[in-house]
Amino acid sequence: MATTTTVRGRFAPSPSGRMHLGNLFAALLAWLDVRSLGGEILLRMEDLDPDRCKPAYLTQLADDLTWLGLDWDLGWRPGETTYCQSHRTAQYQAAFDRLADRGLVYPCFCSRKELLAASAPHASDGARVYSGRCRTLPAEEKAALLAAGRTPAWRVKVPAETISFVDGNFGPRSERLDVDCGDFILRRSDGVYAYQLAVTADDGAMGITRVVRGQDLLSSTPRQIWLLKQLGYPAPTYCHLPLLLSPDGRRLSKRDRDLDMGYLRAHTTPEKLVGFLAYVAGLLPRPQAAAPYELVGEFSWAKVGRADRVVTEEAWQSL
Ligand code: GLU
Repeated sequence: MATTTTVRGRFAPSPSGRMHLGNLFAALLAWLDVRSLGGEILLRMEDLDPDRCKPAYLTQLADDLTWLGLDWDLGWRPGETTYCQSHRTAQYQAAFDRLADRGLVYPCFCSRKELLAASAPHASDGARVYSGRCRTLPAEEKAALLAAGRTPAWRVKVPAETISFVDGNFGPRSERLDVDCGDFILRRSDGVYAYQLAVTADDGAMGITRVVRGQDLLSSTPRQIWLLKQLGYPAPTYCHLPLLLSPDGRRLSKRDRDLDMGYLRAHTTPEKLVGFLAYVAGLLPRPQAAAPYELVGEFSWAKVGRADRVVTEEAWQSL
């Protein structure tokens, strides 16, 4: 286990295309949070999904962060694979095995259709809570399914335990794992380790003490805290930030190519973009050109608050 004496935060982008305004907002606030605490930042490429992540995106992503004026102290460098999730399968396998050795893991053969029948749609993140149908699958049935060539996903057994934590922006949170989360997937049926396992194994092994990310991941936090504990790691502190929305209430996303870095770099300067994002974050009274380091003294979670922000076309066209 890595030991740290200082705050260690991370950028954990998924290189599945060019970053968009929402990713930049998250990266800037993560950087300001950690820098305002005098901490260090690690860059980890979350390129787990082989269908969506391409190696060319990695250098582009690092270049886009640098263009914006965001630096990092540790982690990914060109030609370096230690901090790429796509190269860390052995570590995820080891974490998985540790859980399996304790009897916490079981195969799930449920099809999509069966999952709908075997789950209830009331998880904290709106996802479905798995009923645990395959938890009690008789050994003969399991063996027969495996013999028939069915490749299962693998789930972790969550206990009837309440996980409480205090988010640096969203305040005290609490979740009953079995009721609000359910047994979740650690490894997909195609063999790819799931985000929840990878992010936990990595945050633990890389000594991360501070996680700053979008509030869409707030509901994943209790299971990650629990998983970290199962793997023998201390939990970091978490700060979740509001999301950027388009005027129709949609979350800005890469899939829609909303204001991606290709567009932004062609149309504005890093200082204008940083100033605009700082204004949207509530750190500046008006959009005015600024370099990230000039904003460190302005940063506080009280200014950022919890409300998602709508970014109008008018606003970003002023960039
Ligand atoms: N890779 C995730 C993303 O790009 C972030 C995961 C995390 O911060 O835990 O949204």
